[in-house]
Parts: sequence; C-alpha cells; structure tokens
Amino acid sequence: QSATPTKRICIVGAGPAGFYAAQLILKQLDNCVVDVVEKLPVPFGLVRFGVAPDHPEVKNVINTFTKTAEHPRLRYYGNISLGTDVSLRELRDRYHAVLLTYGADQDRQLELENEQLDNVISARKFVAWYNGLPGAENLAPDLSGRDVTIVGQGNVAVDVARMLLSPLDALKTTDTTEYALEALSRSQVERVHLVGRRGPLQAAFTIKELREMLKLPNVDTRWRTEDFSGIDMQLDKLQRPRKRLTELMLKSLKEQGRSSGSKQFLPIFLRAPKAIAPGEMEFSVTELHQEAAVPTSSTERLPSHLILRSIGYKSTCVDTGIKFDTRRGRVHNIDGRILKDDATGEVDPGLYVAGWLGTGPTGVIVTTMNGAFAVAKTICDDINTNALDTSSVKPGYDADGKRVVTWDGWQRINDVESAAGKTKGKPREKIVNIEEMLRVAGV
Ligand code: FAD
Repeated sequence: QSATPTKRICIVGAGPAGFYAAQLILKQLDNCVVDVVEKLPVPFGLVRFGVAPDHPEVKNVINTFTKTAEHPRLRYYGNISLGTDVSLRELRDRYHAVLLTYGADQDRQLELENEQLDNVISARKFVAWYNGLPGAENLAPDLSGRDVTIVGQGNVAVDVARMLLSPLDALKTTDTTEYALEALSRSQVERVHLVGRRGPLQAAFTIKELREMLKLPNVDTRWRTEDFSGIDMQLDKLQRPRKRLTELMLKSLKEQGRSSGSKQFLPIFLRAPKAIAPGEMEFSVTELHQEAAVPTSSTERLPSHLILRSIGYKSTCVDTGIKFDTRRGRVHNIDGRILKDDATGEVDPGLYVAGWLGTGPTGVIVTTMNGAFAVAKTICDDINTNALDTSSVKPGYDADGKRVVTWDGWQRINDVESAAGKTKGKPREKIVNIEEMLRVAGV
C-alpha cells in the first residue's frame, strides 16, 4: 500500500450504487480516498426507504455497505445535499473524480385531469410513508374505502398491494413505521385492483412477488378468464422466466374460487388509464398490437376509493452543472461517463454516473450492483491509464460549519432505532424526523 492517498474521489448518494462503487474503487486503488456525500442523515437509499418491510432478507446488503463505510479510506458526509449544501462545481474543484449516484426520488404522472385529487397518490409516496422517509409521515392515505386501484403492475405495485392486504400481525414484526401500522389497523380496504395496459404475457411483476401474493392468508386472487384467452397456446414460445410466471398465473386462474378470503387481489389486464372521478377510475379497454397497448373505444369503470399511481420513479436535475436528459429522466452518459455534449458524444473527464440516475429507474439491487461495479472500474481504469489528470493536489470536501452526520453519528441513530424496535419485537423503529436524527447523531 502506498503511504499517502493521492487521489480523491467523491460519490454523491449513499444508496446501493454509491456503496458498491465505493467498494470496488477502494479495493482496486490503493492510493485513493473516497468521500460519500448523502442528502439524508441516514444511509442506504431505497434499501431503507423503498424495499418492502416484509422483505428483511433483501436488506442484508446493508451489512456489506457497512463494511465498506468502515473502510479507513472512506469518509461519510450525511445530511449534505448536492445542489443545496454543495454545488457540483465545488466538488469538481475539490476531487479528481465525482461519481453521481443520487437515484430517482420523484415519480411519473399519468397526466390525467383530477390527478391532483386527494385520493390519488403515487405508490412512491405511499412506500415512503410506510417506510418512514422524512417528510412522508403526514401523507395520511385514505384507507376508509373498500376499493383501491393501483395503476401499474411492476413489483413496486405488488409490494403496495401486499402491504394493503397483509394481515396486520405479519407486519407488526417488520420495520413498518408505527404510524403506518396504526393507520393500517383501521384500514377498511378489502379489494385491490392491479391494473395494467398490456396482457398477462407482458406483466411486469416477477414470480417471487406473485407467489407471495398467492400465499397471503385470507386473500383471494381473482383473475379475469377473458384476459387469458389463447395464452396457453403461446407457452412454448416463451423464455423460461416468463413461461414459469405465466404458468403460475394460469394455475392460479384454474384454481380460483376454491378458497375464499374476505379480501381480494384483482389483477386486471388490457386497461389504460383514461379518467379520474371522485370514487372511481375510468379505463380504456386496450388491444395488443405487437406488444403495444392500443386503446379501443370501449371503456370500463372501476370503483376506486383510493388510487395509487405506480408507473415509475423519476430522477431530477439537482444542479445546473449536470447534463440531464429530461425526456428520459436520467443523466446523459455513455457507460457511466457523463457527456459534456450529447450531440458530439464528448465526455466530461472526471464526471461519472451510476445506479438509477444513469440507467433510469429500473432494476433490482443486483442489477444496480453490476452497473455500479462497471462504472467504478471505468473510473479506476481512467485513473490508472492517466486518461484523467490526477497530478494536482485536491483538498476534498470542506464541511465548513455544516451539520454533517458522520458514520459514527449514523451508528448512534442505528443503535437508538434498534433499541426502540427491540421493545416492540421489530428489527428497528425508524426515526422519521430529520431534527431528531441530527440530535441523536449528536450534531
Ligand atoms: P437509491 O437507492 O435511490 O440511492 C440514492 C441515494 O442518493 C439516496 O440515499 C438518496 O437519499 C441520495 N440522494 C438523493 N438526492 C441527493 C442529493 N441531492 N445529494 C446527495 N444525495 C442525494 N431491489 C431488490 O433487489 N429487491 C427488492 O425487494 C426491491 N424493492 C424495491 C422496492 C421499491 C419501492 C423500489 C422503488 C425499489 C426496489 N428495489 C428492489 C430496487 C432497488 O431499490 C434499486 O435497484 C436501488 O436502490 C437503486 O440504487 P441507487 O443507488 O441507484 O438509488
């Protein structure tokens, strides 16, 4: 190991992309320091604030991230936001390389009239609410009606359906926030419609998530027979994961009606959102033309006391120095190298992107990990081959009186949360208020 670290790399965002990139860079470059700048006082991004509370095994990646954070050449700056507390210009002046991994924390809209009604909320906000994202605790979703319609059929949509239909006892031992458990205990929701524009062969949820739904006690899954007409004839043409998912849907369709729960999970295919009215939602019946959903003149209305829009997350441009592709909702890049000029394809030396901010908001943690490893390797290669000029001395970030949560500060928050959870039989009771997080962290 060389004695004095000479290369300084800053990673913006302490989610999976940030931590996996840091892990690889620290392993491959002996002579570097990695600083991680995170907007919130607490780390882990969507692992803490997205992944469903009843999927604790998914959150085990936190152990790997913690090891990386405890590396002697990594420094964690929690509670520092790019674009507010620090500008990209400043980071670029102070580091040889800057890697942006600040994710996607907004959501896409349906662009329908009445979308602003109180009973129309995004799945992203609902997820943030039950997971304790600071600022989401006052969402107060109206769970007093029987019917909920979720627009979208991805795994986030299924997570949300499961949270609404799960027996409360199953959630009480998870890290679901206490206020969400309290609200869910009063929930009158009995029927959850999961509506997609395309057919069963294009369903975006995966088999594991569907299996979990089918196993939920007291919940009846009801498919519409007409959605599956001709589907079994196509099974042989399908790739293995799609074939297995379709077979499971067909099996469940065949068995439906054999059991009866007091709650219902109702996947509905071939319906495109058309209009929102108080208490209901109107959909166009669609037809598939080469896998694209084309609306017909027929419509269907679904009773919908609460509407949850689950059609994707969206990144934003947090600093004017970032070349942002507004149409695709991500940072212009080629294999993680951020472009200076997207017309010429000229890259901006020393500026990189990874994770959902670079790829768009899709992919599970493993996908994010592989992408982040690849970009981190690019950074190491650029440094090792001198494609990046690292001859000048760079000072690193100067927090200059800002309220920074260090890794030790996060450990204090972690200890308090774990202790509070223990008394309730939960893995943790999350602190949801930023000021309280800062107080516990001692800043
Ligand atoms: P993020 O996880 O979003 O991390 C970005 C980080 O940047 C955050 O910590 C954020 O606070 C920070 N940040 C934001 N703005 C700034 C700023 N201006 N300055 C500094 N920091 C900033 N994958 C699975 O494998 N299994 C699952 O069960 C699963 N469930 C999911 C459930 C939901 C609801 C969602 C949305 C995703 C789920 N995923 C799951 C996918 C997984 O969460 C993503 O693949 C992964 O989190 C993307 O990592 P990221 O680092 O790009 O973004």
